[in-house]
Amino acid sequence: MNKDIGEINGACHCGDVRFHMTLSNGLHSARRCNCSYCRMRGAVAVSAELADFHILQGAELLTVYRFNTMSAQHFFCSRCGIYTHHQRRSNPHQYGVNVACLEGISPFDFDEVPVSDGIAHPKDDPTGAGPRQAGVLRFIPAD
Ligand SMILES: [Zn+2]
Repeated sequence: MNKDIGEINGACHCGDVRFHMTLSNGLHSARRCNCSYCRMRGAVAVSAELADFHILQGAELLTVYRFNTMSAQHFFCSRCGIYTHHQRRSNPHQYGVNVACLEGISPFDFDEVPVSDGIAHPKDDPTGAGPRQAGVLRFIPAD
């Protein structure tokens, strides 16, 4: 797959929430996270700077969920329930955006997706070390 994508449109499942974004590092930033919330949500996210992500339609349908330190904001469509994006705790200047919402892109297009160690969150680390990688998830297509 071509991971060097610049700009792209996206939408939730029902299509009422629509957005346009410029990716920070194409699809190279794709990853999952093993924190208590992300392991349930199960989405692969890519990065965008806050100013590079624009809701085109349906902003009023977005609901926000916060937990624990309440610093990250997890947005989802209140009609179809699909997670669209979240403002990161690890980098509040960035959004993580659901790759499954991006036009023509599926999380199953990736052979391998790194998993960040969100249990040992970098913001909880007094040494200030960056995010650790907990492992990778691999998709092996059937013959
Ligand atoms: Zn929706």
